[in-house]
Amino acid sequence: MECLKAAIRTIPDFPKPGIQFKDITPLLADADVFREAIDALKERYTGEEIDLVIGIEARGFIFASALAYALGTGTCLVRKPGKLPAAIYRQSYDLEYGTDAVEIHADALESGQKILIVDDVLATGGTVAATVALIQNNFDVGIAGIAFLIELVSLEGRKKLSGLPVHALIQS
Ligand code: AMP
Repeated sequence: MECLKAAIRTIPDFPKPGIQFKDITPLLADADVFREAIDALKERYTGEEIDLVIGIEARGFIFASALAYALGTGTCLVRKPGKLPAAIYRQSYDLEYGTDAVEIHADALESGQKILIVDDVLATGGTVAATVALIQNNFDVGIAGIAFLIELVSLEGRKKLSGLPVHALIQS
């Protein structure tokens, strides 16, 4: 996992002062490292019963779609408001200032499916916790896992996901 860590660069004060932004674009540009990331996730979930991999907008889509291909499942998009064209469910959540929301197509999941949720970074956990609520409030599915490339441990996002099977390839 050291090569994954080395391929993620930290940009201080982006997009605003005080944020240490984890930039994954060097990892995506390196064929060997990108493959290692997807292979490591594939290894973690091979043998588990997973029907669908759900990606969170926007960088989560990159990892979710590659992992879905590797696992032989479909993928599904959880998006920011106003992007999905058909009937949706919405879940709002609080930000430091104001609120945001995540949306999913109302016909995206089937009862009884086992799903895996994927995003690039676990920071405060607000977005992924809202995604979990969006799914649990509207569908009768099982959450087989919640996977991240990198977990920012000091922000304690994992606390918002207590009782759920969370996995991060690397921690920072
Ligand atoms: P959060 O809800 O705080 O866990 O973060 C939500 C989203 O913002 C994640 O999907 C990340 O893609 C992105 N994000 C948050 N903090 C960072 C960071 N320090 N570096 C890169 N992306 C971040």
